[in-house]
This record gives sequence, structure tokens and C-alpha cells, in this order.
Amino acid sequence: MPKGKAIIFTAPSGAGKTTIVKHLLSQFPELVFSISATTRQKRETEVAGKDYYFLSQAEFQQKIDEDAFVEWEEFYGGSRYGTLKTEVERIWEAGKHVIFDVEVKGATNIKQYFGDRALAVFVKVPSIEELQKRLSGRGTESAETFATRMERAEFEMSFENKFDVTLVNKELTEAFAQAQKLVSDFLTQ
Ligand code: 5GP
Repeated sequence: MPKGKAIIFTAPSGAGKTTIVKHLLSQFPELVFSISATTRQKRETEVAGKDYYFLSQAEFQQKIDEDAFVEWEEFYGGSRYGTLKTEVERIWEAGKHVIFDVEVKGATNIKQYFGDRALAVFVKVPSIEELQKRLSGRGTESAETFATRMERAEFEMSFENKFDVTLVNKELTEAFAQAQKLVSDFLTQ
């Protein structure tokens, strides 16, 4: 396999990792977003094959049976999410580096899989109260999924020490700059 690198951004839901990843993609032309596969319903704003590969349960199961995933997880009432090996190969073969935006368990497994070829960044909000505020402001959650996500977020906080570095997202411009420096240092080392 060609020698690309992997950048992993992970965080409790609502900590702002997706915004940071999007910013990094706009700054580093050598980075390509790893599109995950999922069985959940497509949201209105999403584009199939760009935000996710939307698969049926049967298609996803077939990929599991073929050992096609680097990792996969199931949550939120049975929805499955996973990183396809072919996705990473596609990006490395194009001479680029891959960037992931995944929850903490998947990120732990991706880091383990790629070892020193990967930089794993844990994005953290300054406090649980702040996380609550951000998650409720997003407007994509029903009361039930909001409660589930908050519970999960508190659990996810405990994963912090499994990653290479923590980035506290207090103020976005500052977080962008810190993220840029981390990525730039890792890609040039
Ligand atoms: P959402 O449904 O909001 O797009 O994502 C739900 C959760 O799934 C998020 O925490 C997101 O990071 C996570 N996720 C997205 N892609 C993957 C993946 O490939 N593997 C794992 N384990 N989680 C993922």
C-alpha cells in the first residue's frame, strides 16, 4: 500500500470536530476526507457518496462478512457506521493523506490499526454545560436522541487519554489555528 498518513479527529458529539475537519480540508489540498459507510437515513442536506455511503443493512452486513472494514460500530437504535479499507486505499493511491471524522470508539480502533502512520486528535469542549448548549443548538436532534447523545458524550469524555493530543475547542478561530499547526507538523515530520 502507498505510504500516506492518517489524521483522525474525534470528540464527544457536539464538540465541533466536524467544523474543524471541514476547515482543515479547505486549508490542506493534500488531505482527503474519509467517507464512512452507514445504514442510517440520509438527512436532507446530505449527499450520498459525499457525506456518507448510505448502505442497506444487508449491504453493510455483506461488507462485514467480507472483512471490508477497518472498524465499524453500531449505535443510535441500530444504525451502523464504518470505515471501509477501500476508502483509505483510494486516497493513498491518489498520493493524498486521509482525514477521519469519527466518534471515539471508532477513532481508537483506527489509531490502533494505523499506529504511527496516524495522528489522533481528541477535540474537547471546555465543559459539559457548554456541550449541552451546543448540542441543543444544532436542531437536528429529537428530545430522545439528544438525551442519548448527552449520555454518550459523558462516557466519551473518558477516552481522552487514548489519543495523541487533546485540542480544547473554546474559541473556533483559535481551535482552527491549533488544528492547522498539529496537522502541518505531523505531515512534514
Ligand atoms: P451522524 O449520524 O451524526 O452523522 O454520526 C453519528 C456518529 O457516527 C458520529 O459520532 C460520527 O462521528 C460517527 N461516525 C461517522 N462515521 C463513522 C465511522 O466510519 N466509524 C465510526 N465508528 N463512527 C462513525
